[in-house]
Amino acid sequence: TISMAVIDRLGHLAVGTSTNGATFKIPGRVGDGPIAGSSAYAVDEVGACCATGDGDIMMRFLPCYQVVESMRLGMEPKHAAKDAMARIARRFPNFVGAVVALNRKGEHAGACHGWTFKYSVRSPTMKDVEVFTVLPSERLF
Ligand code: ASP
Repeated sequence: TISMAVIDRLGHLAVGTSTNGATFKIPGRVGDGPIAGSSAYAVDEVGACCATGDGDIMMRFLPCYQVVESMRLGMEPKHAAKDAMARIARRFPNFVGAVVALNRKGEHAGACHGWTFKYSVRSPTMKDVEVFTVLPSERLF
């Protein structure tokens, strides 16, 4: 899966995501990508979120909606991302997934569960893409 969040020159946010990675591909499966708030979500005034992982579990929690709404209430991207993972991990300790949170200021953070996750960032002020490695938190909750 590729999920992406962008802030344009005017400050508008957008997200996009592919879905149905080979791991979860069964005939007829729609996946979490088309479900708003599950694998991607953006609100101009707040921020955006992208997700990857076991969509069949993640879609039950709308983790990207959760992240954006948590940031709306004042959480830092890092805290919002960890909280969204924790909400899923509490119910499904073996699930594998990750989210990347981005606020409207361009601050970003990732959180993951069950694996080590990487995401990349590029902005006009950067010379090149920077890759961030996110280790699974030992204590999500
Ligand atoms: N979330 C995707 C899905 O369940 C898979 C992935 O993120 O790799 O279809």
